[in-house]
Amino acid sequence: MLSSNTIAIIKSTVPVLEVHGTAITKRFYERLFTGHPELLNIFNHANQKQGRQQTALANAVYAAAQNIDKLHAILPVVKQIAHKHRSLGVKAEHYPIVGQNLLAAIKDVLGDAATEDILQAWAEAYGVIADAFIGVEAEMYEQAEKQDGGWAGYRDFVLSKKVKESEVITSFYLVPQDGQAIAAFEPGQYIGLKMAIPGEEHTHLRQYSLSDAPGKPYYRISVKREDEIAELPPGKVSVYLHEQLKEGDILSVSAPAGEFTLDREDKRPIVLLSGGVGLTPMLSMLTAVVDTDPARQVTFVHAARNGNAHALKEQVEEIARNHAQVSLYWCYEKPTDEDRAANAFDKEGYVDLPWLRTVVPTTDAGFYFCGPVPFMKAINGSLQELGVAAADIHYEFFGPAGTL
Ligand code: FAD
Repeated sequence: MLSSNTIAIIKSTVPVLEVHGTAITKRFYERLFTGHPELLNIFNHANQKQGRQQTALANAVYAAAQNIDKLHAILPVVKQIAHKHRSLGVKAEHYPIVGQNLLAAIKDVLGDAATEDILQAWAEAYGVIADAFIGVEAEMYEQAEKQDGGWAGYRDFVLSKKVKESEVITSFYLVPQDGQAIAAFEPGQYIGLKMAIPGEEHTHLRQYSLSDAPGKPYYRISVKREDEIAELPPGKVSVYLHEQLKEGDILSVSAPAGEFTLDREDKRPIVLLSGGVGLTPMLSMLTAVVDTDPARQVTFVHAARNGNAHALKEQVEEIARNHAQVSLYWCYEKPTDEDRAANAFDKEGYVDLPWLRTVVPTTDAGFYFCGPVPFMKAINGSLQELGVAAADIHYEFFGPAGTL
């Protein structure tokens, strides 16, 4: 238990965190990787370079400080991060290293303003926050291992099939090398990949949402190649998967994880909205709901650049043909001449509020969305404008969690 004095000190530093949070976490990662270069095998380097990881950590520390006397209030956030940690292989022994470097970074950035009392209070508070994460993650490791077909850490899978789904997205079918059962998953969950890419100094860990229905003897992921912007370095893992990985190759996979899952108890309609490769968890949800809950009305909205970039269209259209309760809407940003000739889309440009009003059957529904951050911001804003209850809005970031 933290003393009331410690709590008061932590709360009094919240405004400082608001101002200096990202500077502190930037300094923290510099220190961390200098002292512990082995951790470069766990953290995503591109997220570091773009500052997304620093901002995500600053927000998490800020939320924890604000709620230090009622950490249960941030349990959903703790769980969401803990799922990622379990999928990456973060362990209890990493926490003291993070704690030491975070305190040192606070001192570096705040200078004399970081008094002994403040540093002491933060050391104590960090201990409490770390224990909360370690406890939740220990349960998750145990659950991942003990479930039928489950395992802790990473397990070898064979790439059994590679299918091009669009000009930028390819699906990868993964079966366990040991031929044993694989863990079930909830639609919306992701697996982790640990990639040792020839010529790369570090391993690269990435998460990919499962794009097919649960209950198959394989896991399917569908990956977009991240090399469209010539000025930026090509995405390491996605481009390797597209260009180098061959059927028969082995991949290290961590068991399904994640909190962005379909509420199967809810019998109201659902609205699934995706932009680009954000389609993957939505497709898994669609396939699951038509299998297990055929009375549930589904509205499926997908935004793609055009028909050439539109992945897995046939699978979704076939589901809609066989299930009258499913309505589909395609929104193309820049349709091609062929798209126009084939009347292949319902809306040109971006998904916007006036159009959503015409396709969303009711606001009394479960809304799930995923896509590029600007897409997610637009959808979130539109759903709020439509008056959808906050508890009915669910979304997933394909990167460090941010704010919409
Ligand atoms: P990285 O090497 O990580 O690079 C990422 C981006 O950063 C690239 O666009 C690159 O050009 C840019 N970049 C690299 N270096 C710099 C730099 N120095 N400065 C500026 N920019 C830089 N992806 C899918 O395709 N399908 C999915 O189903 C999917 N599901 C996901 C689920 C979750 C829960 C999460 C967290 C992510 C998911 N992702 C998914 C994203 C995926 O994990 C990877 O982030 C993605 O494939 C890119 O990884 P990469 O190694 O190819 O790119």
